[in-house]
Amino acid sequence: ARRKIVAGNWKMNGSVESVVELVKGLEAYDTVDVIVAPTFVYLPIISETLKNSEIKLAAQTVSEFASGAYTGEVSLSMLKDFAVSHVILGHSERRSLFLETDAQVAEKVLMTLDAGLTPILCVGETLEQREAGTTLEVCNAQVNAVLEKVGVELFEKVVIAYEPVWAIGTGKSATSEQAQEVHKGIRNNIAEKSIEIAQSVAILYGGSVKASNSAELFAQPDIDGALVGGASLDAKEFNSIIESAK
Ligand code: 13P
Repeated sequence: ARRKIVAGNWKMNGSVESVVELVKGLEAYDTVDVIVAPTFVYLPIISETLKNSEIKLAAQTVSEFASGAYTGEVSLSMLKDFAVSHVILGHSERRSLFLETDAQVAEKVLMTLDAGLTPILCVGETLEQREAGTTLEVCNAQVNAVLEKVGVELFEKVVIAYEPVWAIGTGKSATSEQAQEVHKGIRNNIAEKSIEIAQSVAILYGGSVKASNSAELFAQPDIDGALVGGASLDAKEFNSIIESAK
């Protein structure tokens, strides 16, 4: 069976004081991987606060360049200096607001794997695409852009997060049936390359996950956890979500 993963994407929120208090209030369990993703500038202090903790640390993106004259960018080796283990890549906000392309996302996933970190690859359709009936096509095209770049063997180490764009920050989660259908479709697409790897890849759901809907989502056979935005900023709420994944 695949291990459950619950990750909190804090996006561009918080202050030094609030994020330290938040992370100190979180509980870890042996049976669930708990990950938090602060903004870059808070990685050092959260890394320090998490020393001796089972909770893992993620960045919200990374540069596709190794080092050099790239003003404003942060490299994988810099993330490694702060014991970052995961990198969220291809989040819909990066794709839509910062114009990240499938090719860039694929490059970043490959570099992240090469650096020994775990990419959390986000894919998902817009409302328009769902209504046009192209959900799976869109999600699998986003997955395949990466799969073709990194190859199926390495893809085993990738964590996928299915995040329907219309469910992000809207309070309107996909139903567990809707999510399960897409997760299964994503897994089936990977199975065309390798059944074994399709079975081992973790696929998280993201988009308005809260304590009141997480248990039902986690009960679905192809949902291996969650990537949580807003609800991960509240320790009590996030702890309840983690608890429901035990
Ligand atoms: P919300 O949980 O706030 O909908 O955000 C989901 C998300 O984008 C996580 O990456």
